[in-house]
Amino acid sequence: MKEGEKEIELIKKGKRLDGRGFEELRPIKIEVGVLKRADGSCYFEMGNNKVMAAVYGPREMHPRHFQDAKMAVVKYRYNMAPFSVDDRKRPGPDRRSVEISKVSREAFDPVIIKEYYPKTAIDVYVEVLQSDAGTRTAGINAASVALADAGIPMKDMVSSVAVGKIGGEVVLDLSGVEDNHGEADMPIAMVARTDTITMLQMDGHFKKEEFERGLKLAMDACHKIYELQRTALIERYSKSVGEGEE
Ligand code: UDP
Repeated sequence: MKEGEKEIELIKKGKRLDGRGFEELRPIKIEVGVLKRADGSCYFEMGNNKVMAAVYGPREMHPRHFQDAKMAVVKYRYNMAPFSVDDRKRPGPDRRSVEISKVSREAFDPVIIKEYYPKTAIDVYVEVLQSDAGTRTAGINAASVALADAGIPMKDMVSSVAVGKIGGEVVLDLSGVEDNHGEADMPIAMVARTDTITMLQMDGHFKKEEFERGLKLAMDACHKIYELQRTALIERYSKSVGEGEE
């Protein structure tokens, strides 16, 4: 719980405030290829989180001295829109967005085959339009689909979700109120097909067995999210060319 916050009851009659069970994800909606100017894009909703991911590249790297002669350089920018939160967020980068951009970029390190495109840049932009906790995980899920939509060679997709602890219970996919008033929050990202964790952060405290249970819960949920990501891509690409376009 954040300093100065009032304690509130997050679990009533075995249910969470939004009616979910402890192991339930928020509803997910995925739309692929929504931006015409981007090479790949994805609009992703996870409960009240609404994020847009756009991928450009591989394209020439500017400034040139940032080029890598052996591989593409992946750049990831997570940005929270000023209107995405209850109190207006000051526009522009801050410590939090720089950290989230870094860990999110690293979550894709094991999967993007950068060696295919030396000297280039692959730009990933994640814009949070509405936030309700778990925006970095929603951003990673969106970026993953947008990278695939852009045709960036990847060994596999990355899926992401957070687990946390509220009212002494380990629960999946914290909402904003749960994040603010809960005891722990642990976002993870992983390659679902191989069960490879590519990001793990923790805020708060878990006992060892809670950590293990939480991790299993998050990993199982990543498998479900992976299926939704895959289905969204298959649906997008099973449409015949030109269908649904003006
Ligand atoms: N938040 C906010 N203002 C900020 C940063 C965060 O209102 O400047 C809210 C927002 O709803 C966010 C939540 O706090 O989703 C949790 O933020 P956290 O840093 O834990 O990252 P997230 O869970 O979104 O990945």
